Amino acid sequence: MSHLTYSEIRAIVFDLDGTLYVCDRFASDIQDAAAVYIAGIKGISHAEAGLLMAATRLRLAEESGTVQTLSAVCTELGGSIQELHRFFESTLRPEAYLVRDERVIRLLERLAERYSLYIYTNNNRVLTTRITNYLGLEGIVSGIFTIDDTWCGKPDEGMVIRLLEKIGLAPNEVLFVGDRYDVDLRVPDQLGCPVYLSQNLEQLLRLENLLVPATLS
Ligand SMILES: [Mg+2]
Repeated sequence: MSHLTYSEIRAIVFDLDGTLYVCDRFASDIQDAAAVYIAGIKGISHAEAGLLMAATRLRLAEESGTVQTLSAVCTELGGSIQELHRFFESTLRPEAYLVRDERVIRLLERLAERYSLYIYTNNNRVLTTRITNYLGLEGIVSGIFTIDDTWCGKPDEGMVIRLLEKIGLAPNEVLFVGDRYDVDLRVPDQLGCPVYLSQNLEQLLRLENLLVPATLS
């Protein structure tokens, strides 16, 4: 990743969950809520739904050769992504777990002086707004792209192409940052965008050092 021509970058597109914050308890709450939703439509227990989803995720991953999203598993099991997200909106409480981190706020504030910042997430707009407000990031980013814009979850080439058109930049000018290569980064990478895998706070904070040319650091 250190060989990328970072000097061409004019915008950064961040994934949200697992990238701009990492919270295992909230991540497992999302999986639990999805299991409750699937249990409801299948008429099975919460525990059975959890096992069914895990088995389905594994089967789809083996068939496709890539990591599978919750959206893909939900659809495969006959669920509706819209309904799943309405259920998320009414049950999930990110505020109960997330912790505002001043280091992330300051990082994005400094990056925003040099780049346009965006969020592109498989989360929905209501929860994304609540999470970014709670984390103190809402005023720093120039735009947010959520799953309810199209109801096509990442990875989706059409959405990345539309996103680049909306931002008005060429692929080589837009850096994508995410915690799952197959979900967040493979499509932008194939389209010619620089990408950066960040799966914890240390990796996220290191992004700034990679972006600043050596002569300025
Ligand atoms: Mg993520």
